[in-house]
Amino acid sequence: MALIVQKYGGTSVGSPDRIKNVARRVAKFKALGNQVVVVVSAMSGETNRLVALAHEIQKHPDPRELDVIISTGEQVTIGLLSMALKEHGVKAKSYTGAQVKILTDSAHTKARIVSIDEQNIMGDLEKDCVVVVAGFQGVDEHGNITTLGRGGSDTTGVAIAAALRADECQIYTDVDGVYTTDPRVVPEARRLKSITFEEMLEMSSMGSKVLQLRSVEFAGKYKVKLRVLSSFEEEGEGTLITVEDNDKMEQAIISGIAFNRDEAKITVMGVPDKPGIAYQILGPVSDANIDVDIIIQNVGEDGATDFSFTVHRNEYAKAMDILKSKVQPHIGAREVIGDSRAAKVSVVGVGMRSHVGIASKMFRTLAEEGINIQMISTSEIKISVVIDEKYLELAVRVLHKAFGLDQEEA
Ligand code: ADP
Ligand code: ASP
Ligand code: MG
Repeated sequence: MALIVQKYGGTSVGSPDRIKNVARRVAKFKALGNQVVVVVSAMSGETNRLVALAHEIQKHPDPRELDVIISTGEQVTIGLLSMALKEHGVKAKSYTGAQVKILTDSAHTKARIVSIDEQNIMGDLEKDCVVVVAGFQGVDEHGNITTLGRGGSDTTGVAIAAALRADECQIYTDVDGVYTTDPRVVPEARRLKSITFEEMLEMSSMGSKVLQLRSVEFAGKYKVKLRVLSSFEEEGEGTLITVEDNDKMEQAIISGIAFNRDEAKITVMGVPDKPGIAYQILGPVSDANIDVDIIIQNVGEDGATDFSFTVHRNEYAKAMDILKSKVQPHIGAREVIGDSRAAKVSVVGVGMRSHVGIASKMFRTLAEEGINIQMISTSEIKISVVIDEKYLELAVRVLHKAFGLDQEEA
């Protein structure tokens, strides 16, 4: 008997019929003698609808109340799926995050899981119940409802699998695995049989939303066996996230292309070039809980420098506000300018470690298309560039081809 955690995303539970389909699949799995915990997202479009609703009342919604609102989508699906399972004659019980006691910190709308009480779930599994848990939500030490950031149900799934020491965590979604890039943008993309944790971490952190970044971090840390599969196909091995890739005789140099169109670029101009400046600029931004990504500092001849960095587009207005009101007058910078229409493209692969020339090939490919590179950032296994958003899809397509990732025609 195996203990399996299955997570179904928004499209997979997007209508009553689809919920019935999930119930049928879970019932089949249960009938094979497995213990099953199911984690579900809100029905597709529902979280966006709730966010928009909140914005109709408040321009900058109060974070605590926003979490109260956007966590309701998942509460609907756990009830519906539990009912659908009962219709199949399967014992089932729904749990909100607070009922499980998925304890998080108090960072509303992007809370981190601190601990999970597995007692109740284990008790129900022993009574032959399928346990249905709401993804994306938790509760802080004061009893406030929190949410884990967009796409956070993946993290709920993996964290529960880790807490219960499950045999496998299966992420069911609307594609049949992890691809070399988003198959909706590049139809020639190929499904990967496996991908290493390290590569998946880079793919997720560089914008591939097939798995939320924190879910990959959790799976790596707690050694959860993690697989991405389709909820619409009956068979298929999906993509296994592995520690080491033993399947391939020779490691591909590049495993995939990730991209993110939700970037914004900010430049603080005419900054005095002296110690402590980076801290004085980024400290207040970080205190406001805004994540900063690529950072570049140019050294000017006149003793002044320009300091540029990227943030998520949703946090652009807030970051600009902090910089203009607090930072600029304080450090005596000349000007703060920004562009909320930037995008980032990254090539990712562990094989890059043992190969030179990947960066120049990437830059040449983009140059041949006349795409201007605004910023560059590298790690051992990835190279990222920031470009104008309007060239994003072109950049992804040409890089996918240039690095030999296009599927060969059958
Ligand atoms: P769910 O609602 O099931 O959580 P998401 O929409 O969050 O689904 O994630 C699945 C989507 O991720 C796919 O439909 C696909 O468009 C997108 N995606 C982006 N990059 C990749 C990739 N490298 N491989 C597969 N899917 C990807
Ligand atoms: N419903 C949440 C979202 O849309 C969480 C998730 O689907 O994973 O972001
Ligand atoms: Mg998702």
